[in-house]
Amino acid sequence: MNLGVYIQVPFCQTKCTYCNFHTGVVAREKYHPYAAAVCREISALASSSELAPLRGATIDSVYFGGGTPSLLEPAALANILNLLRTSFGLAPHVGQHVPMVPEVTLEADPETITAEKAAAWCAAGFNRISLGVQSFDDRELQAAGRMHRSADISAAAKVLRAVGFRNISMDLIAGLAHQTRESWEGSVARILAVRPEHISIYMLEIDGGSRLGSESLAGGSRYSAREIPSDDAMAEFYDAACMRLASAGYEHYEISNWGLPEFRSRHNLKYWRREPYIGFGAGAHSFDGARRWSNVHDSARYVTCIEQGMSPREQIESVTPEAALEEELFLGLRQLEGIDLAQIERKYEVSLRERIAPLQRDGFVELDGTRLRLASDRLTVSNEVFVELLGQGVERA
Ligand code: SF4
Repeated sequence: MNLGVYIQVPFCQTKCTYCNFHTGVVAREKYHPYAAAVCREISALASSSELAPLRGATIDSVYFGGGTPSLLEPAALANILNLLRTSFGLAPHVGQHVPMVPEVTLEADPETITAEKAAAWCAAGFNRISLGVQSFDDRELQAAGRMHRSADISAAAKVLRAVGFRNISMDLIAGLAHQTRESWEGSVARILAVRPEHISIYMLEIDGGSRLGSESLAGGSRYSAREIPSDDAMAEFYDAACMRLASAGYEHYEISNWGLPEFRSRHNLKYWRREPYIGFGAGAHSFDGARRWSNVHDSARYVTCIEQGMSPREQIESVTPEAALEEELFLGLRQLEGIDLAQIERKYEVSLRERIAPLQRDGFVELDGTRLRLASDRLTVSNEVFVELLGQGVERA
């Protein structure tokens, strides 16, 4: 069995206006105690019997996410990675070969990258960098509260290539304030010119969890909230990108993710396939195949818990068969290859055909033999399809 490890670093240099994650801006002095707490949490779990169900599993993906993990000193990142290696038998770093075993990703913001840092990440065993790009348009970046500008992205990519990174991911957001069809096409063209191995494209989420979302919902104008493109425009941007990326050789494998052949995100695939992963750090989530749990979100509380020898977990729940089925549908259908409906019906002893029939009739999903997938022209309304599919529960066969 393969296992993923996620390390959460919840610190950022500033708070982007659209961000609804549990991250914060803290003094740099907090970084070291936090990294030390993550190490203690790893050591404590490695020596406990809690991971018995996963005994013998091989860690084939490690993902440092955030936040902005590239803010931590390279030595602190290397320490955590080394501890994972010695505690869990992480497969040895084999260099920049493809396919790489294991996949070790670091999320980084373009303006935090220097040649020295990049070389140190490479030497520590990171072999994949996920760059938070968002846009190549400086006006959009500024309105979003990002620290970098488009010139930083190209410079960062050059530095990463120069030190040997052969697996780079970049992301864009469709729907940023001031975005136009022209600026969007410009961003897509610029990302394709860099030709990262992996691209993620997210649609802007408008909700009360971000400053921009709250302002927009309240009808205000701060953060350029009135300059957000319409839902139709966002969908049009996304559809246009789907076509451009396909013709550039990228495989669209998940609603928001594309990869060149052999470069799908091994770590993120675990989430959609319901494979086990263990998270360390404030707010990190874990799934061992039967239970899900998460750590306290507040980074100061997390450090205090660890320093006092207390568990940082705040939610542990067994996944019921009903919840597991919902996850199979909701997560599985995010992948463009879809799900094996007959296998799921057998596994959970349910009949899904009646529920699917109206969605199939209206063209939202396609059934090809027993393979059920979202219709390719309905990916931008996937949430509505999931609500319809899961909304009224599922009948037992
Ligand atoms: S860098 Fe990422 S995590 Fe940090 S505030 Fe911006 S969007 Fe949020």
